[in-house]
Amino acid sequence: MDFPEHHAKRLLADAGLPVPRGGVAADADEAADRARELGGAVAVKAQVPAGGRGKAGGVRFADTPEQAAALAAELLGTSVAGFPVERVLLEECVDIRRELYAAVLNDAASRGPLVLFSTEGGIDIEEVHATAPEQVLRRALDIRQGLSEAAARELLEPADLDAGERRAVAAALATIYRVYREVDAELVEVNPLAIDVDGELRALDCKLSMDDGARPRHPELVEQVASDLPDTGTELERRARDLGLFYIELDGDVGVLANGAGLTMTTMDVISHYDGAPANFLEIGGDAYTKATPALRLALSNPKVRSLVVNFCGAFARTDVMTEGVVSAIEELRPELPITFSIHGTGEDEAIALVRERLGLEPFDHMDDAVVAAIEAARDPAAARGSSG
Ligand code: GDP
Ligand code: MN
Repeated sequence: MDFPEHHAKRLLADAGLPVPRGGVAADADEAADRARELGGAVAVKAQVPAGGRGKAGGVRFADTPEQAAALAAELLGTSVAGFPVERVLLEECVDIRRELYAAVLNDAASRGPLVLFSTEGGIDIEEVHATAPEQVLRRALDIRQGLSEAAARELLEPADLDAGERRAVAAALATIYRVYREVDAELVEVNPLAIDVDGELRALDCKLSMDDGARPRHPELVEQVASDLPDTGTELERRARDLGLFYIELDGDVGVLANGAGLTMTTMDVISHYDGAPANFLEIGGDAYTKATPALRLALSNPKVRSLVVNFCGAFARTDVMTEGVVSAIEELRPELPITFSIHGTGEDEAIALVRERLGLEPFDHMDDAVVAAIEAARDPAAARGSSG
């Protein structure tokens, strides 16, 4: 989950790393108000979850509230780096002396946090990474030890900084690391970390991405941030999210209901392998089988769905418990479309008996056969109806 800049900066500021004063605006009048409150020259920054806004014209400067309003009007409603601009951030302008770069991110190679620092920050940092990697100091961290200010000072040893700057930057790195840990981030990148003309350090930009798997650990923060992100999902995807189900709407006509993300993707692959087209990703693993009815309703609400394959594989998860949920849901919703079953693993005998007795359908012995039957049924539902197995 990519945080809008102003949310990321609020977290930095709360943790003790100064950021420019500022506020967000959704229209020109609000922008003028924000600029007036700030007084003096302001930066007007498109709030889109992408880098390179500076080069794409998404970061502008205004001397008066009127100019700020005009720039906001210009940016709002257009798109920057492929994202629609729904809000702008207005901030007091900073007189920059130096632009530094600082980041902490998940590093696959060292399987832990990696801290990066460069005195060559600013909008050309990608080029620095590519052409002058020696300008970027890097250190893989032991997550059990984190990053102390002392360790950060040691990392900064080779950097072209005076003693006061080194101390301040070390403290900033430790703060960035703390934020990275506290919000379970995959990335916290401050660029530029500016030294202003008075020698003060300030985060002028921040990209923060939270590990999606950590969202349940930060419900309040996620809610605040999500309400500020452009809503990209379809109507059905939003409904699924509200139900606590993970659903992705696709273009095909074969609905998929399987337990666990791995088996769901396998089922989708098998559908594609036999030249079918899955209509959705929807997993009801874990305790989500208790949501069988809303899950089934969701899958069936997609008007493209013409058949459904139910694929359960039990190890710790019991297929009879999952099947009971789905069978009850089918009894309740009485869908018209053909449904095929493949059920294997823990509890399969009971599960298969349930499907036979209560739905009068015969589960397939092999997943492939259940998938092929569902594909054929999607092509010709009338021929397939009532002839499962
Ligand atoms: P990005 O291009 O998406 O990374 O957007 P940034 O927020 O990093 O802004 C791009 C560039 O605009 C920065 O590298 C700075 O050089 C400049 N910039 C941003 N805010 C200010 C500011 O308050 N004062 C000045 N002088 N420059 C700024
Ligand atoms: Mn930046």
